[in-house]
Formats: sequence, C-alpha cells, structure tokens
Amino acid sequence: MLTAAPQQHITIGTIRITYLPDGYALFSPTDLFPATTLADWHPYQHLLNPDGQLVSSVGAYLIQTPNHTILVDAGYGPGQYIEGSIFLQGGELLPGLKKMDLTPSDIDIVFFTHLHSDHVRGISQKINDKPILPFSNARFLVRRAEWQRFANPAESRFDVEDALKLLEPRIELVEENEFIIPEIRVLATPGHTAGHSSLLISSSNQRAILLGDTFHSIVQFEHPTWTNSFDHDPELAKKSRQHMLQELAKPATIGIGTHLANSVFGHVTLTQDKYQWHMYQ
Ligand SMILES: [Zn+2]
Repeated sequence: MLTAAPQQHITIGTIRITYLPDGYALFSPTDLFPATTLADWHPYQHLLNPDGQLVSSVGAYLIQTPNHTILVDAGYGPGQYIEGSIFLQGGELLPGLKKMDLTPSDIDIVFFTHLHSDHVRGISQKINDKPILPFSNARFLVRRAEWQRFANPAESRFDVEDALKLLEPRIELVEENEFIIPEIRVLATPGHTAGHSSLLISSSNQRAILLGDTFHSIVQFEHPTWTNSFDHDPELAKKSRQHMLQELAKPATIGIGTHLANSVFGHVTLTQDKYQWHMYQ
C-alpha cells in the first residue's frame, strides 16, 4: 500500500541516519509534474493512491555520529496547507524526537537542504502565539546561495516568514563542497531552489547521498527530465538530477529522497542506459 514513509533508519560505518516523519502531502500527479499527462502515469499506477494522487513523505533526518547529533531539515511543523489539489500536513517531528528519548536541545547542528516551508517552517514553534526556536543549542547552517535568495524582496516568504526571522541572528552560511563535519560534505544541487543542497555522508568506505528535493517521486529516477512544479529553474533541476544519478549509480552508495513514498532509502542501478531505483523497505 502506498503511504508516507514511516520512521526508519540505516547505518553506514559509525553513522546512523534516521528518517523522522513530520507528516505527508498529496498531489495530483499532472499538477506536480505539469509536463505529464494521465497517460504518462499509466505504467506508474503503483505510485498513486486509490484516489489517483501522489503521496509524498514530509519529514527530516537525524544523523547520529560518534561526536554529533545533526538534524537535516525540520519539516512543516504543526498545521495544514491546502491549495488546489495540494494537501500537506505536518507536526509529528518533535513528538518523534521525544519517542527517541531526545529533546530539541540535544541537537548540535541543524542543516537545511533548502528553505521551502516543508523543510524549515518546523523550526518555528508557537508558544502562546509567539514563535520560538526549540533547538536552543544548535548551530544553524544553510548554503549561502539559498539564504541570499531572500535578499531579493520579490522572493516569496509565504509560510517561512517566522522561521526566517528566528534564523536571521543565528544562521551560518556554508559553501558548496564544505564539510559540515569530517564525514559530511555539502553538494550543490541547484534548480529546485537556487541554493538547494544535498549532503554526501561517508563512513567506512560506504556513502549515502541525502538528496533533499532533487527527486520528488521515484518516477524521476527513470524520467529525470520530468520536472516538478516547485522547481524554480527546471533546466538546472534536470541537470542536478542527471548528475546525482551518475553519483548514485556508483558502488556502495545509498540514496535518500525526502519526499519519496513508502521508504526514503534505496539505491540506484544503471542497466542498458536506464537508471532504476531500488527501495529499501
Ligand atoms: Zn520539499
């Protein structure tokens, strides 16, 4: 059955990567991928729910290393967003951390793949209607190109205004290829947003690539040219997907895709010029 991914984890070397669900989203496939028709989706009925909608996982990651407890993205947070055929609901992230016997103050780094509401709004939690930042001990990191897009007054701050205000005095800007800790390197995967980043996580000759929103559905591993309606620069997004597919097809590489349904973890094979995603249950 098609569902949002549950809490699940993988281990590479000394690093444990846990997917922490925040909620889920539903989309009409032809709205999310506007260049496609319903006929294009006939071979992919297994990726649609009984109502013909795509199911997206919405969540964050906890990366536990011998020296660090890192959160990647922060989900949408409590609330719903409903617009046209889109339905999104968040709010499970902090209760999920609690179930792992962790509190927000245990997190020492929060890294954002990008600053869309379903990845950053969750850091702004309201107490008595006042936005507060629950991750009191964390450093907050994002790639410079992502933060700088808000220097343009025309850039939409819808649903991220509170989060950006809270982050402003705390944010630290990192660059492409910078290591946020010795085992994690920032990769530039622009297109979805101007400063969208992925993370290359390496330990004991194994590696995982946390892809953020480079891919929104497993259909894009077979059709990297299918661009989604949230990609700010569709051509650049396609190039980033093609580049990541080459990286993912290398040996001992696990892929992690935030919005993939059922499971966010898997790996990619290349057979006769065709890339395929193999999901880990
Ligand atoms: Zn997203």
